Amino acid sequence: AQERYASIRRVPATTVYGPTIRLDMNAGLMADLPSLRSSGAEGVGLFRTELQFLVRSKLPSRGELAALYSRVLDAAEGKRVVFRTLDIGSDKVLPYMKPQDEPNPALGWRAIRVGLDKPGVMRMQLQAMIRGAAGRPLTIMFPFVAQFEEFLAARRALLAEMEREERLGHVLPQKLEIGAMLETPSLAFAPKHFFEEADFISVGGNDLKQFFFAADRENERVRRRYDTLNVSFLTFLEWIVMRCRETKTPLSFCGEDAGRPVEALCFAAMGFRALSMRPASIGPVKHLLRRSNLAEVREIIDEARATGMQSVRPAVMDWLRQQG
Ligand code: PEP
Ligand code: MG
Repeated sequence: AQERYASIRRVPATTVYGPTIRLDMNAGLMADLPSLRSSGAEGVGLFRTELQFLVRSKLPSRGELAALYSRVLDAAEGKRVVFRTLDIGSDKVLPYMKPQDEPNPALGWRAIRVGLDKPGVMRMQLQAMIRGAAGRPLTIMFPFVAQFEEFLAARRALLAEMEREERLGHVLPQKLEIGAMLETPSLAFAPKHFFEEADFISVGGNDLKQFFFAADRENERVRRRYDTLNVSFLTFLEWIVMRCRETKTPLSFCGEDAGRPVEALCFAAMGFRALSMRPASIGPVKHLLRRSNLAEVREIIDEARATGMQSVRPAVMDWLRQQG
């Protein structure tokens, strides 16, 4: 399938009359990295670090993780890699951690909540990232931030590790970017201060959609009920775009929906300028973006909203068919 899009691998995803949309890939294992070349992705927009923890029978050591992160950056050859700190709990349970008996794990003690309450593992991971970067630029993103103090606390922990590493004589990253995932509706309504403080924000659409519609992402029966192109959800995404524009905070979308061409097109029409997806999706998404006029797509969306449709999908699909 990648072959089909080989001719556009090295060209940018510039829409008709502009703008250009940045396309990154999602990764989680060393084995994913060769796809950076073959897919034409600009970088790794989401590196899910929990996979390294999940494939082992015991907690990996700081040295092992630092070596891994270093190899990831080597393989990226200077392209930007966004390392997401450990996102465990809910659907991702570590075999060597005491299972939590929670009635609603998706709403439970997970991700940054664990990292802030029991900071040992998170600190070890942050040290490993700083050492792995070994003087190169480093980009770290915290998952599942529900209120902005959580982001500030996690960032404080990271900056404390930076100081500690410096005291210990390790080289610090040449540049450090610290971002947050927006995966809970609450964060979209955080004070302006949050948007000013975050170096970047990435929408985790899988979780954000699950919480927006109160529909379990693991439950087929309810998951399919709510279209990503539902007018309410797109209007919410537009709100997030506006919040980020106000403070000039770089924004991306890294949930699975970014890899679906029609969804990607609508996100771009709502104002997203960076999308991160499975490597195999880069070609098809780029192909559609390059032949679309975002202003026209936006008109179709606005018309569908104005006429009281539940989802803009039928209108956008009609328009695409007319385009041939
Ligand atoms: C998301 O929630 O959209 C996301 C990218 O994170 P994950 O799928 O790993 O929860
Ligand atoms: Mg998520």
